[in-house]
Amino acid sequence: AQPPKYLTGDSAAINDFIDKFDVFLIDCDGVLWSGDHLFEGVVETLEWLRSKGKRTVFVTNNSTKSRAEYLQKLKKLGIPGDVEEIFGSSYSAAIYISRILKLPAPKNKVFVLGEAGIENELRTENIPFIGGTDRNFRREITPDDFQGIADGSLLDPDVGCVLAGLDFHINYLKLSHAYQYLRRGAVFLATNLDSTFPMNHNFFPGAGSVVVPLTNMIGKQPVALGKPSQAMLDAIEGKFQLDRGRTCMIGDRLNTDIKFGIEGKLGGTLAVLTGVNKKEDWEAEDAVAVPGYYVDKLGDLLAGAQ
Ligand code: PLP
Ligand code: CA
Repeated sequence: AQPPKYLTGDSAAINDFIDKFDVFLIDCDGVLWSGDHLFEGVVETLEWLRSKGKRTVFVTNNSTKSRAEYLQKLKKLGIPGDVEEIFGSSYSAAIYISRILKLPAPKNKVFVLGEAGIENELRTENIPFIGGTDRNFRREITPDDFQGIADGSLLDPDVGCVLAGLDFHINYLKLSHAYQYLRRGAVFLATNLDSTFPMNHNFFPGAGSVVVPLTNMIGKQPVALGKPSQAMLDAIEGKFQLDRGRTCMIGDRLNTDIKFGIEGKLGGTLAVLTGVNKKEDWEAEDAVAVPGYYVDKLGDLLAGAQ
């Protein structure tokens, strides 16, 4: 692939770049903020893009928050936004279930491995679910569980889908339930497959690492609904009626954000250096994806444009 064009400080190149697109799909953590730290120039850059008539959509793989909860996070950091502009992997999974899968009742219940963000998005789409944050699943497995799971008496016959995302209470009991549903033919979905996620200047196990025990048990891969899955981009395209050729994906991670944009044949991809990946990652011979453009930080677009 061609090396990416560096835009920081190059006003002609920045203005050419901006003119090429109507829609910017913007990754959140690592682009707008890191944890609770808002990056310099982010609010002004977003306002500037909007003032030029550009559409901004926040696309995050973080499955632990619903769109409504994400909006609160944006507000807390002072970023203006609307819930309809937010597209998270939990929402992506919920609308995939309700609009694409359309599981026929009564076998339309979802067994959830994950946190409240997933549950809230399922509720918004009127999708019945069990598991998730239910305390009855947040405990050690007992001999009665082994018996009831084995003979099916503790299983819900209406479960037709297993949805796995980041679950801070992952345990053997939940894995055992999920496994039996999958064996019985439940559709296998994952909010996202990130191996890790950044927190407190370090990394922690991500949703993909919660999903791996399931793929190991069942011997097949889930349909993933977060970046770089094209199911997510198809859903975004449908919702916003965007023209892929005039859409740019902005992100910090090559194997999610940049890959997502390239595989989706978007008009462009822009990498920022405020997150997970650095220049040497796309310069490596085995680079998973090479962006079309890069800046040191998102705020450089506005700072360098004049
Ligand atoms: N998953 C979790 C649980 C996270 O907390 C984060 C970032 O905070 C991510 C995934 C990655 O999110 P994004 O796609 O916004 O970088
Ligand atoms: Ca990110």
